[in-house]
Amino acid sequence: MNVGIVGCGILGLATALELRARGHAVTIFEQGQVPNERASSTDTSKTIRRLYGNNATYVELVERAAPKWRQWHERLGRDFYFPIGQIQIEAHFAPGNRIHDSFHFFARRAGEVRLLSVSEARERYPQFSYRDSDTIVYDPWAGYLASGQAVAKLAQLARAEGISLHAETPVREIQERALGVELVTAGGATSFDRVVVAAGVWLTRLIPSIGRHLRPTFQQMAFFEPPDPTRFAPGPMPVWAVNVEDEGWYGHPLRREGWVKVANDLLGEVVDPDVERKATAAFLESAREFVARRIPGLAKGRLVGSRACLYENTPDRDFVIDRAPGSQRIVVAGGGSGHGFKFGGSIGEVIADAVEDKHNPLGDAFRIGQRFGK
Ligand SMILES: Cc1cc2nc3c(=O)[nH]c(=O)nc-3n(C[C@H](O)[C@H](O)[C@H](O)COP(=O)(O)OP(=O)(O)OC[C@H]3O[C@@H](n4cnc5c(N)ncnc54)[C@H](O)[C@@H]3O)c2cc1C
Repeated sequence: MNVGIVGCGILGLATALELRARGHAVTIFEQGQVPNERASSTDTSKTIRRLYGNNATYVELVERAAPKWRQWHERLGRDFYFPIGQIQIEAHFAPGNRIHDSFHFFARRAGEVRLLSVSEARERYPQFSYRDSDTIVYDPWAGYLASGQAVAKLAQLARAEGISLHAETPVREIQERALGVELVTAGGATSFDRVVVAAGVWLTRLIPSIGRHLRPTFQQMAFFEPPDPTRFAPGPMPVWAVNVEDEGWYGHPLRREGWVKVANDLLGEVVDPDVERKATAAFLESAREFVARRIPGLAKGRLVGSRACLYENTPDRDFVIDRAPGSQRIVVAGGGSGHGFKFGGSIGEVIADAVEDKHNPLGDAFRIGQRFGK
């Protein structure tokens, strides 16, 4: 088949590479540069974790994604996949809390995910300030992906594999005809057998029947330059999160840019997809307050930068991967809802199966069905 893909974020690239490996001709259209600064995928770094409560689908998907990430990392310059372990510090460790349920989910796989006592955590990860009542869950499997670098490298790989990638080429219209789908750009219309719309928050405009159910939210992060870089280097410092459901703080160790990322996962304000990606003074103040309270050594460093990025939330925060309503040839792939990047190593198979009309049980939860009501 001849497949057109709208969007060169992680979902578009993962789909393109998988379809190409299956022998299809693939063309990607990207409205901005690759990577696009405003895409959700183009962040400095993203957590790859498998603590998904009792959700076996996401656990399986991310555990399938990891070997692919490793393979790409080895092949493409070894600079974007860092499985250095993660700690979750929780004040309320009780049933219903994602970290609690995840810990019990993995309990049957003895020893893989374990609790650190507060004294053990203080000794091993002294960067953090712990309360005696904290519960600390440690998963050595988790880590982070340098997402902007990964997207850049995968785009190079795509081109090397014979995928045609058109940057700075916004798709203005999608028209389904009896025998194909036309993607209309400033240069004219191109016809495809199938089209995948992996347009992130801009799905709201391209496929309004699904897009009107998506809520782009404004999410922010701050970058701190530590006074003592060795203490905050990957390894000595893990990927971390503090009270994920109540406070939402999480972050990554020292990046090669020279700073530590401190971000917040609680859902921000619903915004327009083209909003300026600039952190607010109020957020930076709250990040400083958090760091002073929980990572005191970092509070002695300088706040050297910040950034905002948009989550593409579905109502249930699950992906949406399915034919567009009423369409035979257009597949919608999106709704990563602030946690979709890590699946880049495995989600391409699910989306490619949707394109080829093959049933994939891992994609069942992402079908449209009755999820969005009317
Ligand atoms: C602050 C933040 C932190 C996150 N942290 C994590 C994390 O720790 N772990 C994790 O797994 N996930 C995380 N995520 C979520 C993850 O980044 C997203 O779920 C994922 O990157 C979405 O990928 P995508 O390809 O669907 O969308 P995008 O990356 O947004 O890509 C869509 C692309 O489509 C292009 N496009 C749109 N419209 C058009 C058009 N008309 N024509 C041509 N091109 C078009 C856009 O320019 C864009 O490049 C985070 C997201 C944010 C914002």
